[in-house]
Amino acid sequence: MSDVSAQPAAEGHTDHPVSLAEYTTLRLGGAAGRLETAASAEEIVQKVQEARLRDEEVLILAGGSNVVVGDAGFPGAVVLVRSRGLRVVAEDGDEVTVRVEAGEPWDDLVAATVANGWSGLECLSGIPGSAGATPIQNVGAYGQEVAETITGVQVYDRTDGAVGRIDAADCGFAYRSSVFKYSSRWVVLSVDFRLVRSPLSGPVRYAELARTLGVEVGDRVPLADARATVLRLRAGKGMVLDPADPDTRSVGSFFTNPVLDRESYELFRGRIAGLEKVPHWPGAGDTVKLSAAWLIEHAGFPKGYAGPEGVAISSKHTLALTNRSGTASTAALVALARDIRDGVHARFGVTLHPEPVLINCTI
Ligand SMILES: Cc1cc2nc3c(=O)[nH]c(=O)nc-3n(C[C@H](O)[C@H](O)[C@H](O)COP(=O)(O)OP(=O)(O)OC[C@H]3O[C@@H](n4cnc5c(N)ncnc54)[C@H](O)[C@@H]3O)c2cc1C
Repeated sequence: MSDVSAQPAAEGHTDHPVSLAEYTTLRLGGAAGRLETAASAEEIVQKVQEARLRDEEVLILAGGSNVVVGDAGFPGAVVLVRSRGLRVVAEDGDEVTVRVEAGEPWDDLVAATVANGWSGLECLSGIPGSAGATPIQNVGAYGQEVAETITGVQVYDRTDGAVGRIDAADCGFAYRSSVFKYSSRWVVLSVDFRLVRSPLSGPVRYAELARTLGVEVGDRVPLADARATVLRLRAGKGMVLDPADPDTRSVGSFFTNPVLDRESYELFRGRIAGLEKVPHWPGAGDTVKLSAAWLIEHAGFPKGYAGPEGVAISSKHTLALTNRSGTASTAALVALARDIRDGVHARFGVTLHPEPVLINCTI
């Protein structure tokens, strides 16, 4: 079983500043005031309550694969989520509901579901981080997102100190978003996923995945085939953590795909007259989703584009900004992000928004 942290470092309890770069997949970030490791839901609650009594700010950190921590670090208490385990809490016909502790490494969970013949998470193979972080931004890839399978989330509510449950309908799931993102109110303790007992995947929705599997969009394939193919596709794009590959020293996609209302989309079309084949998809309601990668490339930022201190766009994926040198600062990474955002805006009038959570830094 792997650890949820990409690069395991010494953990436990420290009352002295510890570099958060050790705990993030970007390998960036200044020091934490102090660090606490929580190995169970009870310990998570206890550590958060203790910090409150000490009047400290709290940062919940799990795999560190979706955070950009500023060079000044985080002055308060960082609670590392390291609770483990999963159990079946309900069975109904072909459906099985699995409760997963927040610190369970996400890809271990996906592997276990595939091995057990539970369909629903297979296309989310290879995503780093913890199960408990997946509701935060409604993690998604290759045509699946966790909003489709999460039925509820057990949380600690920091406003009233109560442990309770938020049903999926109240999680505010949307594209790379939920009520949890950018809110410090709730700490996720465990997540319930409803899966289907089936040797086959859900209908394959992502064209590239269908093509690589040699099937039509909408077909189903053996779970293990879906997982293996997703892992292969992701690895080719530097989207599976690999300590030997500096292209994976990232937070995955740095920008979300912009979603435009109809009026903004028409303005955008006016600006791109003459450019054919601009990738776009229907968004929720009367909106259009554009490809951030396409916009970035066509604004003059190709794969491998370098910024200061050895930060660079991944050589394999336009959306991943990397600490390629391994010695850069967060200031350098956000400077590159700012250049890209401003360049895309100048060229297309579209504003890109960061996907990771920015802690004590801004672009
Ligand atoms: C190479 C790579 C590929 C990636 N590919 C994808 C992808 O395909 N799709 C995708 O959606 N994401 C992707 N990501 C982003 C990231 O892996 C996911 O968002 C993941 O769910 C983050 O989990 P984590 O445990 O690392 O969260 P962290 O980075 O530790 O935390 C992220 C945020 O969630 C909060 N948080 C974490 N745990 C809890 C908790 N228990 N309770 C309350 N708040 C919590 C933190 O405070 C922080 O605000 C990728 C990242 C990398 C590095």
